[in-house]
Amino acid sequence: MNASRMDFPLKLEHSYAKQLPGFFVSLEPTPVPKPSLLHFNTPLAIELGFDCEKLTPNVTQQLFSGNVLPSDAQPIAQAYAGHQFGNFVPQLGDGRALLLGEVLDQTGKRRDVALKGSGVTPFSRGGDGKAAVGPVLREYLIGEAMHALGIPTTRALAAVATGEHVMRERQLPGAVLTRVASSHIRVGTFQYFAARGQVESVRKLADYVIQRHYPDVSEDRNCYLSLLRVVVERQAELIARWMLVGFIHGVMNTDNMAVSGETIDYGPCAFMEAYDPDTVFSSIDHAGRYAYGNQPAIALWNLTRFAETLLPLLGQESSEQAVTDATAILDTFMSTFQNLWYNGARTKLGLTHSEKPTTTSDAERTLIDDWFELLAKHDVDHTLGWRYLADAADGNACNLQALFPKPAELDIFLKRWRGLQDDVSRPKAATKIRATNPLYVPRNHLVEEALSAATDDGNLKPFETLLHAIQRPFTEDPQFTQYALPASTEFTANYRTFCGT
Ligand code: AMP
Ligand code: MG
Repeated sequence: MNASRMDFPLKLEHSYAKQLPGFFVSLEPTPVPKPSLLHFNTPLAIELGFDCEKLTPNVTQQLFSGNVLPSDAQPIAQAYAGHQFGNFVPQLGDGRALLLGEVLDQTGKRRDVALKGSGVTPFSRGGDGKAAVGPVLREYLIGEAMHALGIPTTRALAAVATGEHVMRERQLPGAVLTRVASSHIRVGTFQYFAARGQVESVRKLADYVIQRHYPDVSEDRNCYLSLLRVVVERQAELIARWMLVGFIHGVMNTDNMAVSGETIDYGPCAFMEAYDPDTVFSSIDHAGRYAYGNQPAIALWNLTRFAETLLPLLGQESSEQAVTDATAILDTFMSTFQNLWYNGARTKLGLTHSEKPTTTSDAERTLIDDWFELLAKHDVDHTLGWRYLADAADGNACNLQALFPKPAELDIFLKRWRGLQDDVSRPKAATKIRATNPLYVPRNHLVEEALSAATDDGNLKPFETLLHAIQRPFTEDPQFTQYALPASTEFTANYRTFCGT
């Protein structure tokens, strides 16, 4: 049965479907019994150029549940493969998502609009094609938090409850998420065609990605090598930025790594509390493959899989030359990551200013290493440990000292830190620290409280309040005092997150 159609308050385009036939399956969403709007992202809708006046709650919930399609939608499920926990699965694909089309946002940037949880597709592999309210709101919250922290990310435009139950470990209320992304092209999309020996498809995909995301490299002599270079750089930057706010993605499979450099797929992700590089929250990550501190190594592993898919396109002279060239680029990942990581940490310490060299000095690197070691040794909350440095820069180290069981070691560190501040950076340090170190991140206990209230009682208030708090992460607000505080150590020690949502 064909879904009914209505005018959409925004024009949809279909460059992916037009330029890449054979890369997807066309099908419509499965209708849901009783759609009701949980949340709509008006600021994002405005950014995309929606005529919000036309989006009454009824229209919104019909459109973003998939019950009514925009008249110009051409819904497709995209094919992709992927390495899951290191094991290659030749066919994954959109098992519960459909791309409705692309919009050109207010700045002219092309962005995908896709439904997630919209029913089974040929890629569902026995799954029900659905999503539950909890994970949908979780993706909404964490994506908005990342966006507010200035980290490239896919974002939620709408969350709509479906009025039906989905079966997980127990019956849960169902929902559909509308996701906006620079694109949904993953490392796994390349792998899908490479694994089938379809070199021309890989080339078409690479050409499409260059044109859509990296037009600057299109004229390069070996544009595919340049593509590898920019994707490597973007990922190094993304992972550095994640880690500087204590983010753990949790399931960095190659199908969950977008070649655009945006964070995608908020499943078992979580923010770290006490600083510990070995932190893992995901219930299925027994070996700690996706632990906080392992994220750069895993990103490089995934990028190596990406490079392998491009090899047949790189060999202008010989295939050995292609391997040498690709390896040389992959070899830059760790140093690029480390430079960005140290530079980011230097800014977080309030040590940067416009007249200073852009690279972190050896003395600053040692200070940064020692700071992390102190945080780890004393189980200091990552978010507050950094944030309270601002008060210390203002001459009040009490809050910071309270986080350290043995403040003497902190005092030695603070002395060294002040020693590295110069006359230009010192007066502005506190403001700079507050502008780069958030006070509010979506803490795990708060996220869980918000999701439980929505799931068990249909109460969206905790979700809305938390969303409000994390949307302005750098600005202290007395109404959100509780939201800055860590969970109990007991809660964090027992906290587990889940995939397969
Ligand atoms: P994820 O763990 O969300 O990255 O998903 C991995 C793969 O499983 C993708 O191909 C998804 O489309 C698919 N998948 C996840 N959950 C479901 C579901 N409930 N029904 C069908 N496919 C699913
Ligand atoms: Mg995924």
